[in-house]
Amino acid sequence: MKRDDCIFCKIANGQVPSKTLYEDARFRVILDLGPATKGHALILPKEHADNLFELPDDTAGAAMQLAKKMAKTMWEKLHCDGLNLMQNNGAAAGQTVEHFHLHVIPRYLNDGQDLELVHGEPSQEELEAVRKEIVGSV
Ligand code: AMP
Ligand code: ZN
Repeated sequence: MKRDDCIFCKIANGQVPSKTLYEDARFRVILDLGPATKGHALILPKEHADNLFELPDDTAGAAMQLAKKMAKTMWEKLHCDGLNLMQNNGAAAGQTVEHFHLHVIPRYLNDGQDLELVHGEPSQEELEAVRKEIVGSV
């Protein structure tokens, strides 16, 4: 399904122009308008899903395969030094456009980006409590 009020539906389906890197029956890959680094791209499914929770399993699998293909292309064409995949769900996680998208972010030594996580230092007991909360008492 496409949504009339969704900009990424319009871009993915070609109703709004974009800098397209790749297109097939299910996806369009575009350059991000506000790139974090040179070559920062977004993988957009043509069918609308708000986020990962709504995404059909087969689309999720195909998106990751396409990410691998795009990563290889970035590596070969842009000679990047590394690459991040990023995928945000919900405002708390930094999602600003409510149509699933997978960021493909080529990285370069000293590119000035800081995607580093702030790491905690939980005890073994605290880790175990979280593990049980997620999987139960197994
Ligand atoms: P997120 O914060 O994960 O929702 O990412 C949204 C991304 O979409 C940001 O990196 C924006 O720069 C990018 N973006 C927003 N609107 C457009 C657009 N019309 N064309 C291309 N990229 C866009
Ligand atoms: Zn959409």
